[in-house]
This record gives sequence, C-alpha cells and structure tokens, in this order.
Amino acid sequence: MPESWMSDCLFCKIAAKEIPAKIVFEDAQAVVFRDINPQAPTHVLVAPRKHIACLADSQDGDAALLGHLQRVAAKVAGQLELGSFRLTLNNGRGAGQTVDHIHYHLLGGRPMQWPPG
Ligand code: AMP
Ligand code: ZN
Repeated sequence: MPESWMSDCLFCKIAAKEIPAKIVFEDAQAVVFRDINPQAPTHVLVAPRKHIACLADSQDGDAALLGHLQRVAAKVAGQLELGSFRLTLNNGRGAGQTVDHIHYHLLGGRPMQWPPG
C-alpha cells in the first residue's frame, strides 16, 4: 500500500484491488480502469495510487506524478487505438467531481462536442 492510501476511498481500494475493476494498465504510480458508467465507447479513468483528493489539493511535489498520469493516458490511448481522445479532470462538485481521489477521464471512440457542458 502507498503511504498515502486512504482506507475509505473508492479509488484507493480499486488501486489496492480491494474492489474489483476492469484494469487496463497499471504501474508503480498509476492505475487505469474502465469507468463503470461509460460516457463514450471508450471511457477509462487514470488515477494515481497516491491519494490526492482533487487537483486543487495537489502540491508542487506532485508535479512529476501529474505529468506521469498524462503520459500514461497518452500510452493507454495508443494501446486502445484512440486516434482522437479527450482527457478531462473534474475539480469540485460544481465541475462534476463525485469521487474525491484525483483521476483523469480518458474518453474516445465518438466525436466530442466543444464546449463541454
Ligand atoms: P468524477 O465524477 O469526475 O469524480 O468521476 C468519477 C467517475 O467514477 C464517474 O464517471 C463514475 O462513473 C466512476 N465510477 C464510480 N464508481 C466506480 C467504480 N466502482 N468503478 C469504476 N468507475 C467508477
Ligand atoms: Zn484515494
């Protein structure tokens, strides 16, 4: 378990495999799994193993980890053969965040509208 693991956090539990998920990629710092309620033909979540509640709570020391998550997203997009994709992070309830553990949504497989709702 990472030092920052939170026993009552859904995505910490998924990263620790205490709760099942369809994991498509994992490494020492990150886990990528299928969203349970997909909003596109491909919809996976890219989360760090470290518990950080939201982007606004991240620290300067998390910069490399946040960059790593974006690289992981790019690699997984390639693995899943997504030519175009959207990478989204919701920060706060008003922006649609419902799980308080940082995660990027990687969406693809359909045309994306802009601006997002
Ligand atoms: P957000 O609303 O940005 O915090 O994103 C949370 C996402 O987690 C939503 O898209 C949910 O569908 C997804 N989700 C919630 N529970 C699970 C779960 N057990 N396994 C996979 N995805 C989940
Ligand atoms: Zn967590």
